[in-house]
Amino acid sequence: MINDIYAKLLQQVIHNNYDNIKFENINANEKEFHYEFKIEEKISENDFEKLEKEIRKLKKSAFVKLIRISGVYLDGNSNNEMITRISGKGFNTKDELEEYNNFLEEAKERDHRKIGQDLDLFCFSDYVGPGLPLYTPRGTIIKDELQKEIEKTCRKYGFEKVSCPSLADISLFETSGHASKFNDELFRVSSPKGHQFVLKPVQCPHHTQIYASKIRSYKDLPIRYMESDKQYRAELQGAVSGLSRVYAITVEDGHSFCRIDQVKDEVKNMCNLIKEFYTKMNLWNNNWVSLSVRDYKHQEKYIGNKEDWDLCEKMLQEVSDELGLNAKKCEGEAALYGPKLDFMFEDALGREIQIPTVQLDFSTPKRFGLFYINENGEKVPPVMVHRAVLGSYERFLVLLLEQTKGVLPLWLSPVQVNIIPVNMKYHDEYCKKLKEKLLDEDIRINYNDSEESMNKKIRQSNIMKNPYTIIIGDKERDNNLISYRKYGSNETISISLDEFINQIKEEIKKR
Ligand SMILES: [Zn+2]
Repeated sequence: MINDIYAKLLQQVIHNNYDNIKFENINANEKEFHYEFKIEEKISENDFEKLEKEIRKLKKSAFVKLIRISGVYLDGNSNNEMITRISGKGFNTKDELEEYNNFLEEAKERDHRKIGQDLDLFCFSDYVGPGLPLYTPRGTIIKDELQKEIEKTCRKYGFEKVSCPSLADISLFETSGHASKFNDELFRVSSPKGHQFVLKPVQCPHHTQIYASKIRSYKDLPIRYMESDKQYRAELQGAVSGLSRVYAITVEDGHSFCRIDQVKDEVKNMCNLIKEFYTKMNLWNNNWVSLSVRDYKHQEKYIGNKEDWDLCEKMLQEVSDELGLNAKKCEGEAALYGPKLDFMFEDALGREIQIPTVQLDFSTPKRFGLFYINENGEKVPPVMVHRAVLGSYERFLVLLLEQTKGVLPLWLSPVQVNIIPVNMKYHDEYCKKLKEKLLDEDIRINYNDSEESMNKKIRQSNIMKNPYTIIIGDKERDNNLISYRKYGSNETISISLDEFINQIKEEIKKR
């Protein structure tokens, strides 16, 4: 295999250039190769060009691209020390290599970390710590708008919003099973006063306790809760990157508690909800669905009995058939407590991102002793269906920013209308009047009243990808007009302010 050859060439080059190389490991597959090692000196992406050149010296007509450098734990065990991994890709021809370089250029333009910085959406701080994103005012607007939109859609499907604290007594997660199964992913919080809390890694256990706060009848079900809140996972220290892997994620999460005869309709309801939302977001393309089932060879790994699992997997298969989801069966991908339907998308580099998910769970309600009263007055445990639609806001933003290159629809844009005067001296007053009027109409505006030239302001407005840029000169002021340019167009259109407001509001409403 070609990647195997290049991995060994890279190894040789490292040996030619560095001393005291320890803990070496090579692996290669169809897509990439990785060479892992430890040296005393510091090595970075800046050395890639030199290393690639050295590889070409060893092999005539070598077509290789070193892609990234990362820190990994020796043997993947976080108790071990961290070593360096260089990943790369080999090609058979020069054309293939060039094609790949073009793809990387394009991907760089789409990289959410770059877009996030260019558009001033989020940032990181060494004081706060890596893996803990801070949303700027502009990024917060996007996040809030997404939340409003997803909650509006979910309400149509019967979900009610709840709100829970970030911590819980450790016993909650001991009962749910998270404490033992995800032991090394939990942040434990203690106080000098003797508190022993866990920062919630998921919201499900909290939601079970809202269900448990009242006696429920079979007629009350399904009961559906949703919440967008922070969850905390102790990811490997070397693994945090941009918004893709963080310690604090904001998760749009929801649960339905229902009777067994309602499960199938619940799952369908949720799949339809997912489809509606992603279609509205213009992201319902290039995606596929995984029917994630048990690892049949190691069924002891899972919670719950075999009959429940058989039934759940069959039910999800039926939903996939009936809704035409064409789900691909993936063995060993199920959750701890049940099988699931996972909806997979692609990021800029063609890597798969799993976002929405629907999961069946017979076991958590039993663990917490949840019940409802059936027609015969008996206590029966409900079934819990977990679902994420938007999922992690961070991961969703990765997908959204990389697929749109940061050109967001009007309703999501932090600044919807940017106002630029031709000359501050003559047009400032009229611009201020416009600003007030647009603000009254709940339109997000920016008035660029800086001292820079008009042309520079127009260029800046394009860089920030503002959907509408309004330019105000004598003609506009004297005739009570506005002239605007839409992002991506050089055409300037003049209309009355009222017309403009109607047009914009219509566009926001349509989504
Ligand atoms: Zn859940």
